[in-house]
Amino acid sequence: MELAGAPCVTGIVSCPADGETIDTLLANADAAMHRAKEMGGGRIERYKPAMGAASRVRLGLEGALRKALKKGEFLLHYQPQYQLRTERIVGDEGLLHDRVSSRLVGAESLIRWRHPGRGLVPPMEFIPLAEETGLIEEIGAWVLESACCQLRRWQQWFGSDFKMSVNLSARQLYDPALVDRIAATLAANGLLPEVLCLELTESCLMGSVQESQQQLQRLRSLGVGISIDDFGTGYSSLSYLRRFPVTALKIDRSFVQDIGEHADHQAIVKNIIAMADVLKLEVVAEGVETEQQLSCLYAAGCRTVQGYLLGRPMAAQDFAVLLNATGEERADRVSQVS
Ligand code: C2E
Ligand code: MG
Ligand code: MG
Repeated sequence: MELAGAPCVTGIVSCPADGETIDTLLANADAAMHRAKEMGGGRIERYKPAMGAASRVRLGLEGALRKALKKGEFLLHYQPQYQLRTERIVGDEGLLHDRVSSRLVGAESLIRWRHPGRGLVPPMEFIPLAEETGLIEEIGAWVLESACCQLRRWQQWFGSDFKMSVNLSARQLYDPALVDRIAATLAANGLLPEVLCLELTESCLMGSVQESQQQLQRLRSLGVGISIDDFGTGYSSLSYLRRFPVTALKIDRSFVQDIGEHADHQAIVKNIIAMADVLKLEVVAEGVETEQQLSCLYAAGCRTVQGYLLGRPMAAQDFAVLLNATGEERADRVSQVS
């Protein structure tokens, strides 16, 4: 049995050792195929009884995810994104100094599952399965709708230049209904397309290059921004960047982490920024945790940042308080924050 999509994986069963009915054989071949996928794909796995247990866990999780959707157990957290800029200020002795200031310019929406027994479950524990089973289409539509609805409320309170980033998975990108759904969601919420940025990983784009190109082109025609998430961890080549009509690159956390200590990582970050400059792409650094990382990124030319140092992902009401505190002219609106 083979799983649709690249890379190719195959699960093998033999009869009667691995089952005597068609149903059992198919279920066990499926379990072997999933094992092959977990091992990185592009391989053949022969069924072993232990794989059956993993398959039952997966089935249990799939059922729980379906219930979670019906019961409204998903929620979004929002992580702030800041723009850095240099301000010239007058110091104590009347001398001019340059100071780096940060301005809250957007948020990335990040899904969580409020599990009745386990509390908040992080996305990496359920998004891959949602993607595999197709549930991501329903979950993704909910994410898009909720993030846009939230953005509309925040824009009404805090101004229309604030932007929202939403993560998309491969299955969502290749969905022919995606562009119309986004257009309808933006229109329903009275939002300009430029305020929405879709985040896609390199591997998601490389699944089917031609389809990705066409779909990205449609999204760009609509006017939404497209960012390559976790940039630097996949293909990162100039030739594919030129082919995909993207608007921004998000430098992966792994490069940001060691930027002050590893000359290699500093050089990679500088090169990403130089490449983005040539292609007129915005650069966002993710996973900024220390002042040292922040100043290295600034020195390298990065002007948009996101990370625990500046703000962790937080619930909508906490984010609204943050937005509120940000603009002095907006201070009188605190009572409206729900
Ligand atoms: P991502 O889009 O690359 O999101 C960044 C992840 O890094 C988030 O993890 C965030 O909480 C975490 N992070 C942010 N700043 C820092 C930092 O300074 N230090 C460290 N150590 N971590 C930081 P999270 O929320 O667990 O999300 C993980 C991944 O799940 C996301 O990676 C994204 O690929 C996926 N995801 C999240 N929400 C959605 C969604 O609505 N739809 C889809 N398809 N995928 C989603
Ligand atoms: Mg992201
Ligand atoms: Mg990322």
